[in-house]
Amino acid sequence: MNVKNILNGLEAKHPGEQEYLQAVHEVLESIETIYNENPQYEAAKIIERLVEPDRILTFRISWVDDAGEVQVNIGYRVQFNNAIGPYKGGIRLHPSVNLSILKFLGFEQIFKNALTTLPMGGAKGGSDFNPKGKSDGEIMRFCQGFMLELWRIIGPNTDVPAGDIGTGGREIGFMYGMYKKLQMENTGVFTGKGLNWGGSLIRPEATGFGGTYFTKQMLDTKKDTFKGKIVSLSGFGNVTWGVALKVTEFGGKVVTISGPDGYIYDKKGLDAEKIDYLLQLRASNNDIVSPYAEEFSEAIFYPGEKPWGVACDIAMPCATQNELNGDDAIKLVANGAKYVAEVSNMGCTPEAVDVFHKAKILYAPGKAVNAGGVAVSGLEMSQNAMKLNWTLEEVDAKLVQIMTSIHEACIKFGTQDDGYINYVKGANIAGFIKVADAMLDQGII
Ligand code: NDP
Repeated sequence: MNVKNILNGLEAKHPGEQEYLQAVHEVLESIETIYNENPQYEAAKIIERLVEPDRILTFRISWVDDAGEVQVNIGYRVQFNNAIGPYKGGIRLHPSVNLSILKFLGFEQIFKNALTTLPMGGAKGGSDFNPKGKSDGEIMRFCQGFMLELWRIIGPNTDVPAGDIGTGGREIGFMYGMYKKLQMENTGVFTGKGLNWGGSLIRPEATGFGGTYFTKQMLDTKKDTFKGKIVSLSGFGNVTWGVALKVTEFGGKVVTISGPDGYIYDKKGLDAEKIDYLLQLRASNNDIVSPYAEEFSEAIFYPGEKPWGVACDIAMPCATQNELNGDDAIKLVANGAKYVAEVSNMGCTPEAVDVFHKAKILYAPGKAVNAGGVAVSGLEMSQNAMKLNWTLEEVDAKLVQIMTSIHEACIKFGTQDDGYINYVKGANIAGFIKVADAMLDQGII
């Protein structure tokens, strides 16, 4: 495999798909050596087949807003690869959504799902619909319109969507309700469902809890703990909330959160009341974090800025892709950060990752750190198939076990001669081998 040639070919075929090309580049760079050592991969054109989605569905959604005006959005589902199980991946509702973003997320999802050890393929979907500022009725009508198209290609053994940015329990409920009506079946076709209609305990917390369990293991490698550590988070959504809960429980002090309008510095750190307030802030359906500083007088709001200039021991980006760039990384390193655990998908730019690697700071990528979300989704699928519910303790124990096995896989494939753990390499190689070998077993399809 010649990474440069493959990327040039993809760029010519898919011009302007920046995020997708960035995600492919990162994986190919990590697996190049192992790929070239195993000629069976090249003979079966595994990479050429892996970088193109199995299929993409694009559709129009027309719906009527509260003022009686007709609104039009675009919907997508990218079914990327199902070598190891049914397609699985969330639905993103955000005005920035386009095919490049969903292809990058679907591609990453293939390897992330493989790392969980559960049988799930990779997919992603979404729409440029902006849920911010919309009424419940508007969100319901949009979700129903979205499902009028999507239902044709999903199913509990085919493709199982879940939440992501802009899609939480409310949106899953509206989508699942419409699916059930159209398909006339009540099965585990979505994950992230409500607890009284098939959902799993710990699913809302899973991405944040899993990310924190993974970070704890990164600390363990240096015989270090969360106790007394200053932790910087970004975002104020579902994932930020879950991370804040668990980090605080482990004795860390969360001093920042952020939104598209700027960041909050809270020198006293988030406590139970403030973490609860995050839920209210997200449910308020506004895209601003500044009200936090009005609610808690010790907090300071910095408009238009990102939190990465604040001195911390551990940085955990939790908002969106490319939210931490090379300059931010330089500031974090200069201010003494020792660990960066990316909980958002591709939260750090390649320049930022370079800075961390050169400074020998432990940095782990989203596909390993945030895999707890989809892992508990996989556990929700198992519970639905068995028609029983596991207890909170059972689900949490399985989540810890899965995050431990992902961390072990990263160590196995990512430890360098000098002992430094390259988690990017580790996660990409471990995920790739599992998927590639399954593709080899199943022939040229
Ligand atoms: P939420 O919608 O709950 O929160 C997303 C947060 O990121 C919000 O604070 C949001 O602000 C902010 N944000 C979104 N887009 C942008 C942008 N373009 N610029 C600046 N800020 C932005 O989503 P989640 O917490 O569920 O997801 C956060 C990250 O974690 C994403 O990268 C997602 O892919 C990843 N992830 C989520 C999983 C899950 O289970 N939910 C599983 C695995 C990964 P605002 O809403 O105001 O725009």
